[in-house]
Amino acid sequence: MIPRKLEVDFELSEEERMIRDMSREFASEVIAPRAEDMEKTGDYPYDIMGKMADLGMMGIPFPEEFGGSGGSWVGMTLCIEEISRADVGLGIVLDVTTLCAHEIDVFGTEEQKRRWLTPLAKGTEIGAFALTEPDAGSDAASINCTATLDNDEWVINGTKQFVTVIGLDNCSIAIVAAVSGKNKRGKSIINTFVVPKGTPGFTVGRKYNKIGMHSLSTNELAFENCRLPRDYMLGEEGRGLAQHLAALQTGRICIGACSVGLAQACLSASLAYARQRIQFGRPIIDFEAVSFKLADMAVAIELGRLMYLKAAWLKDNNLPHAFEASAAKLYASEAVERIASDAVQIHGGYGYMSEYPVSRYYKAAKALQLVEGTSEVQRIVITRSL
Ligand SMILES: Cc1cc2nc3c(=O)[nH]c(=O)nc-3n(C[C@H](O)[C@H](O)[C@H](O)COP(=O)(O)OP(=O)(O)OC[C@H]3O[C@@H](n4cnc5c(N)ncnc54)[C@H](O)[C@@H]3O)c2cc1C
Repeated sequence: MIPRKLEVDFELSEEERMIRDMSREFASEVIAPRAEDMEKTGDYPYDIMGKMADLGMMGIPFPEEFGGSGGSWVGMTLCIEEISRADVGLGIVLDVTTLCAHEIDVFGTEEQKRRWLTPLAKGTEIGAFALTEPDAGSDAASINCTATLDNDEWVINGTKQFVTVIGLDNCSIAIVAAVSGKNKRGKSIINTFVVPKGTPGFTVGRKYNKIGMHSLSTNELAFENCRLPRDYMLGEEGRGLAQHLAALQTGRICIGACSVGLAQACLSASLAYARQRIQFGRPIIDFEAVSFKLADMAVAIELGRLMYLKAAWLKDNNLPHAFEASAAKLYASEAVERIASDAVQIHGGYGYMSEYPVSRYYKAAKALQLVEGTSEVQRIVITRSL
């Protein structure tokens, strides 16, 4: 039998440790004190995003020649976890904008990267990812939005929904999937396009009234004879959906990191509360029913973190990671919903009041099972990879 060498190295690089520590400090000192107010007013913190851009948070894994810092996805996802710990909405902004930047980085031409990746990697602008439509969610191949060629220009028509960050002033582009015809087997030929905001025929519609993450805007998007130069198509003709799904694989690692960050916030708040809340003459952490919840939270967080970091590490090393990315997203997003619910439970009635952050965490947690492929879709991807 050939002996198999098992090497497991959990050590972060010096740079990754620095990114994690810098992000943690920034999140606790700058974001956390504002998070409750952002939730109440629904105001997006442009100043905080500006500071995050100055710290290079949006460009961690992108090439230096296009405004990034040439770092790793392990570093990027550690940053997303730490930011999400203070405000998961801002973690999702990092996720969405790096998702767009990544699609341009992998599939774009030099000119497209220079024009669109550079501002996203520098964080001076952010990007939106527009795939979902009213009649096409999990079944992304059934989109109806069209892109037809007319005199060397693409003409986009149709509607997208649930598009996160598109309504923000610093969002400059949307990456849009649209159908350009049918192939011989009658299947839609899907292409993806970079559509700059402000292009005539591009309308940002109403902002959805989400149950949580109020400062993170999510809007409808409509295209009516929206004309684009031919070279605004991204990648290979007819490969648009495959490109989008490849980018989403990375997005799933990022959502795993968002989930772990939010779960860590739940644990920290619950631990502090359980130590100081006295009932029956003792801190409630002394009751096994409470302390076991805390232990289960800590174990799930440890596992979720190892799962997203492994997926990110595989990605950094150009190794297949479809299973690991979906498994990390599925596990961590399902764990955080349970953890947020237990965090409210540990706080008793106070946990249901907006004075306590766990009520905000509870409202945000559910979204993570829905974005970038529901839990059911992750299970489909996982089963296919077995
Ligand atoms: C806060 C938020 C932000 C979002 N941001 C974006 C964004 O920026 N860009 C974007 O494009 N989209 C975005 N979305 C949309 C999100 O990706 C979709 O909601 C998600 O893909 C599910 O699609 P759907 O809502 O149409 O549900 P459906 O696809 O209609 O699914 C309904 C239910 O049926 C289940 N289901 C469907 N098909 C199957 C199947 N084959 N097997 C088993 N179960 C199945 C689903 O898992 C789900 O439980 C966002 C959504 C939310 C909530």
